[in-house]
Amino acid sequence: MTVSARHSDTTTIERDVAIVGAGFAGMYMLHRLRQLGLSAIVLEAGEGVGGTWYWNRYPGARCDIESVQYSYQFSPELQQDWDWSERYATQPEILRYANHVADRFDLRRDIRFNARVASAIFEEGSDRWTVATEDGAAVRARFCVMATGCLSSANRPQFAGLENFRGQRYHTGSWPHEGVDFSGQRVAVIGTGSSAIQSIPVIAQQAAHLTVFQRTANYTIPAHNRPLDPEYKKWVKANYGAIRERAKKMIPGIDFRINDKSAIAVSPEERREEFERRWQEGGLLFAAAYNDLILNADSNRTAADFVRGKIREIVHDPAVAELLAPKNIIGCKRLCVDTGYWATFNRPNVSLVDISETAVEGFTADAVKVAGKEYKADAVVFATGFDAMTGALLRIDIRGRDGLSLREKWADGPRTYLGLGMAGFPNLFTVTGPGSPSVLTNMLPSIEQHVEWIADCIRDVDGMGRRSIEATPAAEEAWVAHNREVAGLTLRSTCSSWYVGANIAGKPRIFMPYVGGFPAYVEKCEDVVRKGYEGFEVR
Ligand code: NAP
Repeated sequence: MTVSARHSDTTTIERDVAIVGAGFAGMYMLHRLRQLGLSAIVLEAGEGVGGTWYWNRYPGARCDIESVQYSYQFSPELQQDWDWSERYATQPEILRYANHVADRFDLRRDIRFNARVASAIFEEGSDRWTVATEDGAAVRARFCVMATGCLSSANRPQFAGLENFRGQRYHTGSWPHEGVDFSGQRVAVIGTGSSAIQSIPVIAQQAAHLTVFQRTANYTIPAHNRPLDPEYKKWVKANYGAIRERAKKMIPGIDFRINDKSAIAVSPEERREEFERRWQEGGLLFAAAYNDLILNADSNRTAADFVRGKIREIVHDPAVAELLAPKNIIGCKRLCVDTGYWATFNRPNVSLVDISETAVEGFTADAVKVAGKEYKADAVVFATGFDAMTGALLRIDIRGRDGLSLREKWADGPRTYLGLGMAGFPNLFTVTGPGSPSVLTNMLPSIEQHVEWIADCIRDVDGMGRRSIEATPAAEEAWVAHNREVAGLTLRSTCSSWYVGANIAGKPRIFMPYVGGFPAYVEKCEDVVRKGYEGFEVR
């Protein structure tokens, strides 16, 4: 793998399009724009491609969407050539895939690595964006695409006295590239979200002792991960087109079996069998056991009770099982997928500390303090998640027409039209931005749909001989209102999750992703184009 020259080697350069981020969104954006004959450059903070899969190298990291679906479909040749080895791909395998794509489509020559973007400023008159990096270099471009990812800005809560702690500190979202050997160490993990749930079983196997600090118990479904059978792989490749088409008709953009019955319309025996079947199959499929699990609290309780029952069966110590059993709506916070999570708490070297009532009080040189008690640790793993959806964008000083800053515009929460553009920010696009289905769907098809929409839009603006496109305030307002309305239809908006920004102190509570589902959303985007970019002003 070759790394392009450091950004500081360049002065201000001119391109048609500046792209921020070389994850799956930025890489495909670059490829698509090149196909249109446009010049583009990607500015990437990391030293390599892969975005979230470049940074999240914690032990046990793997995707919770099946590998054959969590992959690009824009190139049938790539789809046929690449071989996934497991049902759920590990982070190293996904990163290899990202690197393969970068090599295969010769992307690196237009990516500047080690180039963290500090600002993106729109210049009236010339209608150009100046995108500047922290080391002072800049790109001037007609269009700017923010491919900054939904979960890429780490949440590092301010814990009192952390500076006292003499051991090692890690955040799952920016894990050391050389890996960490916890052998013989006392490790503390703070958090019990997806990252923690994947890493805890692996760390427990290595560490002398692992203490898990849990604020909110979480639901997780076994992955039942396995190597992919060669016959299955052959079948997938022969049927890829049909699989992808079926997935596009599904609300989460994943080809899986959604049961079209209500959980409360069937007998308890039938329900138990269906939940058991899906538990045995493993993964997020569990959430589709009935069609109203996320819509109806009574239906939801049947699924939650089933999982709580499983926890009580698996975890030997009833007091620990009770602590681990979540009390809230299943699927309200993002459902997790694990390998051996609950059983890990049967290990003699693992203990669970409840911090739901008494928060982490502070740190000493070699311990985490809770309610006056010290829990010794040589290393602390912060599995505390991300400033989701808005964090990566607001970290950049983005200024549009009349100097309007995005931070001001979004002071009361994100406002976009379709999660693609914003009033006051001409020629600026967000890939899977707030207000689009994004994190509620399989990210890869959602990314591809956005990238293709944006590329076609740029082509059309050029084709019309116009200079700029910008969401109208009225269209944006209507989309924000529609988002608010549909968000309230599901149970997801009822809990303190990162979907609503509840994990970040002071963040406005707005349900950020669009819950209308992938097919309806795609139809809306296509309709906007059919109606001559309805809701956008093309100048
Ligand atoms: P997360 O779901 O936000 O979990 C963060 C955890 O840290 C929560 O348990 C949270 O508790 C806890 N926490 C946060 N601040 C705290 C504080 N001040 N004191 C104590 N505990 C605190 O983050 P994540 O696990 O990194 O996952 C984020 C998202 O990334 C996932 O939902 C998923 O979409 C994606 N992801 C996917 C995969 C995959 O594909 N397998 C893997 C990892 C992540 P509370 O719940 O009480 O806030």
